[in-house]
Amino acid sequence: PGTLQPHAANIDSLSQHFPLCMSHLHKTLRQNSHLKHFGRLQYTLFLKGLGLSLEDCIIFWRKSFRLITDEKFAKEYRYNIRHSYGDVGGDANRRGRGYTPYSCQKLLTEALPGPGQAHGCPYRTFSPDNLIPLLQGMGVQDQSVLKGVREDVGKQRYHIACNRVFEYAHKKEIKRAKDDFGWGIAELDTISHPNTYFKRSFMLKH
Ligand code: SF4
Repeated sequence: PGTLQPHAANIDSLSQHFPLCMSHLHKTLRQNSHLKHFGRLQYTLFLKGLGLSLEDCIIFWRKSFRLITDEKFAKEYRYNIRHSYGDVGGDANRRGRGYTPYSCQKLLTEALPGPGQAHGCPYRTFSPDNLIPLLQGMGVQDQSVLKGVREDVGKQRYHIACNRVFEYAHKKEIKRAKDDFGWGIAELDTISHPNTYFKRSFMLKH
């Protein structure tokens, strides 16, 4: 399998393995060259969970926020990134470690995003009529999968919808991992963390 080496310059390419929550944040960041506070926090912790170093994370955000000055970036944004990594602030518990990347459970229970905000789990925060075209735009064309997603979100089984899309998007690779590498229940249990989604997708495709 290929080795994962995240750095400031390859996040665009790694984003093909992101779950919808993180790819939505990434696309919003690229569209607006900005993300609001909770989106930045959610995405920074996810990137940290990928193994992105603090230095590279700061470079990533600095380059992504290309419409603001270095001074504004240093004053308003840099500290929070360092804080997420535990480089500054926090109680003794968090010093040096910072905050843990958010699980699906956490993202599925936090306050819903307001106008202009992009955080949270899109399976929950998007209306089905917006969610389905978003998935189609990402290449999910199978009508039975889309119907399943509609039913899942209707029953508020958001992470099941996400797992359904994962299985569809990695169908070939999952079959190969089962046949050739003996992947079973342990390797393919239900995903309940965005970082697990990423790791599994990366492993299956490399
Ligand atoms: Fe992200 Fe979890 Fe929602 Fe999937 S179910 S989009 S991994 S928060």
